[in-house]
Amino acid sequence: MTIQSRNPATNQAFETYEETSPDALEEALACAEEGTEALRLMGVRERARGLERLADLLEERAEEYGRLASLEMGKTLREAKAEVRKCALACRYYAQEGPGFLADEPVKIDEGSAYVAHLPLGPILAVMPWNFPFWQVFRFAAPALMAANPGLLKHASNVPGCALAIEKVILDAGFPRGSFKTLLIGSKRVEGVIRDPRAKGVTLTGSGPAGAAVAKAAGEEIKPSLLELGGSDPFIVMPSADIGAAVDAAITGRTQNNGQSCIAAKRFIVHDEVYDRFRDAFAEKLGALRLGDPLAEDTDIGPLASASALDEVLEQIEKSVGAGAKLTLGGTRGEVEGCPEGNWFVPGMLEDIPEEAPAFRDEIFAPVALLFRVPSLDAAIELANDSAFGLGSAIFTKDRAEVDHAVRRLEAGATAVNRIVASDPRLPFGGIKTSGYGRELAKDGMMAFVNKKTVTVS
Ligand code: NAP
Repeated sequence: MTIQSRNPATNQAFETYEETSPDALEEALACAEEGTEALRLMGVRERARGLERLADLLEERAEEYGRLASLEMGKTLREAKAEVRKCALACRYYAQEGPGFLADEPVKIDEGSAYVAHLPLGPILAVMPWNFPFWQVFRFAAPALMAANPGLLKHASNVPGCALAIEKVILDAGFPRGSFKTLLIGSKRVEGVIRDPRAKGVTLTGSGPAGAAVAKAAGEEIKPSLLELGGSDPFIVMPSADIGAAVDAAITGRTQNNGQSCIAAKRFIVHDEVYDRFRDAFAEKLGALRLGDPLAEDTDIGPLASASALDEVLEQIEKSVGAGAKLTLGGTRGEVEGCPEGNWFVPGMLEDIPEEAPAFRDEIFAPVALLFRVPSLDAAIELANDSAFGLGSAIFTKDRAEVDHAVRRLEAGATAVNRIVASDPRLPFGGIKTSGYGRELAKDGMMAFVNKKTVTVS
């Protein structure tokens, strides 16, 4: 069996890889078990130095790896290079803070002494999506390597080149054999890895159905799992907001990564008093974005990652319009000169969306802005929370009381005030409701797969 890399700008396959055979998978699992011991023997300081070397290599290879990501999944080269550099930042963060996070924590007790030690669990399976093919993996891998947990990567099937590049750069940085292995396997083989006694936990970033399947197997095996799933983040705009700044943020929030981000602003919930002003300025800027070759400097939006992703969004729009929503901008198949086969999609805007429309409840993983008009902050919050998802949320207002109210009432793992939701290695990242459970990044991300051992001494 083979796995192919296909350029979404042309829909041509440009590289073919052999799937990991059953024997090679068995060897990878055995090797990962040894990897735990090898990482432990390196010691905390040497692992931190390894992460610094890894950060250096990622910065040196940002152009090469950025190009690979663009070619495999269509994001602009500019964003792809920034993504690789952000991975370096995460490595440096854990190199600096990791030793402190992993240090023994003394606790005062009545008799004798006590402390909490932070020990590795062992090999962790990471099931990852294609949308940020480097960042999603590194936000797991950097804390895992620091905590001496080997990584077994099952990446999305459309980014095998990125998956192999990640294994290579980690080993090039001096991490021992067995500390990180890419498995080129389809999703049907994931359950077998979760059920293997040598895998000690699983983390998945992706869609709800994939998360449920992985969590079910992990639950049956009594293994820890962490899920980072989809979202349909609300972006609330109140009358006191700086509307120009809100529009600029809305453009970035909805269209970065070609509109394929879990924490993209997706539902724009705008107060009646400023709806028309916000809408007109937003539509003007959205309509002016340049669709094109992701490798070109002047491209704003590249192709969607796959032909099926394009079909899916077109169907969501068609059904939403059928249910009564108004398509007031774009939202159609696009055209780019010289690349007739690419997965081009013209950024769009839907308004007057009824509850029955798919756009009201489902995640739209493409640059389509969903606009809602509301009479008050309470109505905005009620609409924002009327969703199965609870990943990020944003509010634009200059009113302190409105901020406090929204922060306490919005059902989400993050609220950004007068800015868009973004991940940062220093801050915990994750969702509630069907957006998943557990937190990546910061200290929480490292502790997700650590044995916090209680030690009492007389
Ligand atoms: P996906 O189809 O769920 O795939 C994600 C990963 O899971 C891939 O490696 C996929 O492998 C694997 N997978 C799929 N079905 C599986 C199953 N039944 N058992 C085990 N593994 C399975 O998601 P996607 O289309 O790649 O990514 C888009 C979704 O990810 C969106 O919903 C987005 O919001 C979410 N996301 C969430 C976050 C976050 O941090 N919360 C970040 C980024 C993306 P194959 O490729 O081989 O199918």
